[in-house]
Amino acid sequence: MKVCPRCGKNEREVPFIGFFCRECYLELNPPVEERTLEVKVCPTCGRMFLGKWTEPRLDSLTKWISRHVKASPDVTHPSITIAVTNEDETSFTFRGILTGVIGGTPLQYRFAGVVRKVKEQCPVCARRAGGYYEAVLQLRGKRWEELYRRVIDQLTREKDPKAFIAKEIPRKNGIDILLGSKKVAEKIGRRMRNIGATMKISHTLVTERDGRPITREYVALRLD
Ligand SMILES: [Zn+2]
Ligand SMILES: [Zn+2]
Repeated sequence: MKVCPRCGKNEREVPFIGFFCRECYLELNPPVEERTLEVKVCPTCGRMFLGKWTEPRLDSLTKWISRHVKASPDVTHPSITIAVTNEDETSFTFRGILTGVIGGTPLQYRFAGVVRKVKEQCPVCARRAGGYYEAVLQLRGKRWEELYRRVIDQLTREKDPKAFIAKEIPRKNGIDILLGSKKVAEKIGRRMRNIGATMKISHTLVTERDGRPITREYVALRLD
């Protein structure tokens, strides 16, 4: 009969893995590879890089941690459950449960870990800070001020992080709004058409990058 050389318990009292009782074995050979995780967090908009830049949602972070915590290779049928338990300025704390089998003995192993936050500006905020814009919304016509109010209202509801205003330039009969996204400019243009504005879209070539033309889009809206 096996007797655990570490704690003295025997095979009849507790399950064994190899020469040790399960508990001692797991203490000596933690079945989860110990490492500190790091996640990029944009200090400007708060989004996190979880494979791509995403809204800082706890369920997305939890999934990301489960993918990055690794069971050691001797665990068969590993399954890891993660719960984020705390967040502060510099890190997230989480708890996890690993279930699986080692050497024919089933196990359930509880562990804890930390995800350090690494501050890094996301590409959208970096562009925004650099004065970048993709589109110009040109609001014109007798009722341009009404258009302007509606456009701003739409923009504040927009969830796309590129829906930012880089600059506003007053013009003789209206205003130009420099926008971070062509897609958003067109979407807003279509909305304004529904309230009777006319829309014209044109492009100018700004530069070329890797042989591809980079254009700026002009969305001219007119409401008389
Ligand atoms: Zn033992
Ligand atoms: Zn950002």
